[in-house]
Amino acid sequence: MFGFIRRLLAVSAVLLSAGCSAQPQEARVTIYAMDTVMSLTVYGENAAENAANAAAKINELSALWSVTDESSELYRLNHSGGMPMEVSAETAELIRFSLEMGEDTGGALDITLYPVLREWGFTTGEYRIPDEERISELLSARGTPEIYGSTVALPEGTELDTGAVAKGCTGDILAEQLRSAGVTSALLDLGGNIHAVGGRADGSDWRLGIKDPRGEGNIAVLELRDKAAVTSGDYERYFIGEDGVRYCHILDPKTGRPADSGLCSVTVIGEEGRLCDALSTALFVMGKDAAKEYRLSRGGFDMILIDTDGNILITEGIEEDFFPAEGFSGEVEVLRRQ
Ligand code: AMP
Ligand code: MG
Repeated sequence: MFGFIRRLLAVSAVLLSAGCSAQPQEARVTIYAMDTVMSLTVYGENAAENAANAAAKINELSALWSVTDESSELYRLNHSGGMPMEVSAETAELIRFSLEMGEDTGGALDITLYPVLREWGFTTGEYRIPDEERISELLSARGTPEIYGSTVALPEGTELDTGAVAKGCTGDILAEQLRSAGVTSALLDLGGNIHAVGGRADGSDWRLGIKDPRGEGNIAVLELRDKAAVTSGDYERYFIGEDGVRYCHILDPKTGRPADSGLCSVTVIGEEGRLCDALSTALFVMGKDAAKEYRLSRGGFDMILIDTDGNILITEGIEEDFFPAEGFSGEVEVLRRQ
């Protein structure tokens, strides 16, 4: 089924539309990659060529980082039988950064959860609730990945899934490629990971809808330029068990079970997409209090937390750019540094 969608979208990727020369040129590309639909909109001179090059880069990175594609670098690494393996510079950097963020977030981000995610069926869509014993067995079978330069060694029983960081990293690589080609206005929507290059072609900010995690439509609008905004939500991939409980695709590495922290959506906004992506997942696991504490001890990003009671917390850096939707009846708390 995914294969079919991929082929369909690969075809639509060729259907670039470029405006006439009097207007700023605009090119749109839609592709299916990294398990999601991605859409790129690029403005300015050579828009069509720049958009096509960006799409080609996505396909290149996705061929490296797919966990299921047997020819990907990550797949080969996951099947390296405990032997050190040389990987590309991009893959080494993705793994190095993810491990560093794992440490920095006290283990809330953990790219070694793949065997546990598979057990829950999040990798195939064949969902089931594993028994506690099986989860602990898989959690304790994992070792610590080691990385020296571009050589990675995974102990036996350890498999990586970089899904929590890869799209943010891809956004950074694409934005850099577009900027160095002279692009000053582009919006990259990598399956909900938004990466804005500059503002809109008319000079105004991009307006981004923040999805209502429990309803239709948007709960708020965020204005941004030259930044990434990455959301992790329990509504993106989940199943309802026979016990009526919602089980989402973000796992708490401490328990090996879906995170149940009282948050249902976390958006992280900042200049570095990979940081935003790593943190959207990690802060979702941590929950509101720990996320607040983490934010107060570090800079470099803003965030929007939506809890299961329907209340919102934002950080002061985006106060002027954040607009709750009409009819929003919850509270909006603003986190400030004293
Ligand atoms: P994101 O949508 O960026 O929050 O990434 C979620 C994806 O990362 C999931 O679909 C899993 O493949 C993987 N994942 C789930 N829980 C974690 C975690 N605690 N740390 C790292 N990756 C995770
Ligand atoms: Mg993430």
